[in-house]
Amino acid sequence: MSNLTGKVAVVTGGNSGIGYASAESLKAAGAQVIITGRSAEKVAEAAEALQVEGIVADVSQLSAIDHLVEQVEAGYGKVDILFVNAGIFAPAPIGQISEEMFDHQMGINFKGAVFTIEKFLPLLNDGASVINLSSVNAYTGMPNTAVYAASKAALNAYTRTAATELAPRQIRVNAVNPGPVATPIFSKTGMPDEQLNGFATAMQNRVPLKRFGQPKDIANLVVFLASDDASFITGGEYNIDGGINVNPLLAAN
Ligand code: NAD
Repeated sequence: MSNLTGKVAVVTGGNSGIGYASAESLKAAGAQVIITGRSAEKVAEAAEALQVEGIVADVSQLSAIDHLVEQVEAGYGKVDILFVNAGIFAPAPIGQISEEMFDHQMGINFKGAVFTIEKFLPLLNDGASVINLSSVNAYTGMPNTAVYAASKAALNAYTRTAATELAPRQIRVNAVNPGPVATPIFSKTGMPDEQLNGFATAMQNRVPLKRFGQPKDIANLVVFLASDDASFITGGEYNIDGGINVNPLLAAN
């Protein structure tokens, strides 16, 4: 496993799912980890379980990010790994997209990501690693995900430009595009259980490896990209999706 001893890592949305597993793996690799999230109770519970620091900060509120940065600076000084993971999945069909839904999803998934990096920039050490959690949805035409997909496609476009702009400081910026991963994100959509199960089965059938990803699958890639083992990798995008991105039109048999 990559060695992250002596590094400070901030994981936004670290109290659940992919963020939680990544915080656990980053800590296991030797990093000092700070997790964030929206719910005070859930952040405290996860921080206690992981034995890391938890800070409540809603990434859709710029003042909350400012406060988060102040707290991290006071406690740790500098940051080496910034995992921009906080996000929501709020599916809606075209024709039923309200301004409020648009602003909410873009405000967390894209604006929240951009301003997390913007505000952490002064704290990032030269040679730091920024990892943006995007999605294969950025490239698929999955029904009901137009705004979600656009929020992630925007994040990928931002990632490429950030990689070139921050290269003079040797700060690496990469994006990770998971396929379906078994986390609480789907139950938070408010879909009834029956619809959720049908959705999960249909999705799994489209994955060549015939399973959902586990948060740990993504965490393994995050730890690698965070580490000096990935020191020549920037501006990259990594699909980690059981092959859904290359699902064939016709099955082999
Ligand atoms: P999750 O619901 O388990 O975790 C999401 C985390 O983001 C939680 O900790 C939550 O508190 C945090 N969060 C949400 N809104 C926030 C806000 N305004 N401020 C601060 N924190 C906030 O879901 P997950 O599946 O682990 O999702 C993590 C990331 O992975 C998201 O960006 C999501 O879009 C992306 N993703 C997930 C999947 C999947 O299938 N689960 C696939 C591709 C991409």
